[in-house]
Amino acid sequence: MKHKQFAVIGLGRFGLSLIKELSRMGHDVLAIDRDEGIVEDAVDVAAHAVKADATDEQALKSLGIRNFDVVVVAIGENIQSSILATIILKEMGVKKVVAKAQNALHGKVLEKLGAVVIYPERDMAIKLARSLVSQNVLDHIDLSPHYSIMELVAPQAFVGKSLVELGVRKKLGVTILAVKRGEEIIVAPRAGQVLNAGDVLVAVGKNEDLQRLSELED
Ligand code: ATP
Repeated sequence: MKHKQFAVIGLGRFGLSLIKELSRMGHDVLAIDRDEGIVEDAVDVAAHAVKADATDEQALKSLGIRNFDVVVVAIGENIQSSILATIILKEMGVKKVVAKAQNALHGKVLEKLGAVVIYPERDMAIKLARSLVSQNVLDHIDLSPHYSIMELVAPQAFVGKSLVELGVRKKLGVTILAVKRGEEIIVAPRAGQVLNAGDVLVAVGKNEDLQRLSELED
């Protein structure tokens, strides 16, 4: 796999966490912040850390930012800087600009500029709310406003029964894409697949059907 070139602008908690994870996955990341002290602290985490103001087009040009595959604008509170940096990057021809939005209006502007917009605090809160409501739900990926993929621990009532016996598709209306069993993953399990205690189901379906599945008695 060709390693992608990543740059992250704004080394707050979010930017630094992102850089740490990308570095841990073996990618070189260019870390950029306008605050010298913050850049010095980032040297331990990022392969390259430089001091630059992202609203300064010339500074970004001299870093060769146009050649990066993905540039993440992780500037939060300074909405003006975030918007200016995003416009400059898009105008320079950076294909994928991911920008962190502080609120809905900020997000709308970033979207209009062509950025992929993320709302980390909102999304994390939604995830937390979902996991608090049904403790057996481990993950939830929205596919559309009505369909999702959900990862959940198989309810106790499912143990020792096969998918067809349980009527997962017919009665519950959801399709099991995979069953995770410890280190093993059973991809596209057959109807006769019997479930064990502790199995994790990866299910796709309508949100209300997945909700019903997650609310089944343990
Ligand atoms: P987090 O929640 O991730 O901690 P935040 O949303 O509070 O961050 P800020 O603290 O406003 O975001 O910004 C993160 C970083 O972005 C700061 O270190 C700040 O120095 C840097 N930053 C702000 N404006 C610019 C700019 N124009 N160019 C480069 N870096 C900038």
